Amino acid sequence: MQFMTVEQYQLVKKQAKKILNTYTTTKDQKVIQAIQALVQEKIDEKLTFTEISQQLQLQPIFNIETKEQLHYFLNDIKPYVIPFQAPTANELKKLFPKEKKLKLPNLDSYDWKETSYLSWFDAGTNRKYIVYREEGTLKGVRGVFSHSEKVGICTVCNQHAKVGMLLVAKKGTDLGTYTKKGNYLCQDSKACNEALSDLSKFEDFVENLT
Ligand SMILES: [Zn+2]
Repeated sequence: MQFMTVEQYQLVKKQAKKILNTYTTTKDQKVIQAIQALVQEKIDEKLTFTEISQQLQLQPIFNIETKEQLHYFLNDIKPYVIPFQAPTANELKKLFPKEKKLKLPNLDSYDWKETSYLSWFDAGTNRKYIVYREEGTLKGVRGVFSHSEKVGICTVCNQHAKVGMLLVAKKGTDLGTYTKKGNYLCQDSKACNEALSDLSKFEDFVENLT
């Protein structure tokens, strides 16, 4: 039975890497135990288990000493991830009805168990599209995205990465007025999703835009 959301899975992945990193950098048992305790704390904070077997699935995380073990661990737990419910091309078109020539992404290229939000860029129009689900309902925003060579902090995942500025026109309080909201966002949406282990940051981000 699937019991982890994508964001929770990304968090577990991050913690697994932390354990591996600890084993590769120190032999000090006290340090290792301290990190293991921190990882346990993070997992307890973020995940709720309804069965003991779910907890047991994650137990090997504490003994990941090699890259290979990390690889196997992630493979083993991936079946328990609840994937992003993939939209159809038609559903995407309905989200952006004003766009006659909407360029759609290749939906087969996504790993939905690694995806908390869907995003793609149309180089022809410089538009970046962001699609997500809010209580199951598909929603979308789009804006003009300017790439930069700069490394900055992404508003969504908070990692240091190559970012760009996403400008979204937002309806003002007076009829017919618009304000533009800008946010720094990862250029690489796949990496952004991977770094996104706290979905509330993403929710704040879209709430601010829409
Ligand atoms: Zn990001």
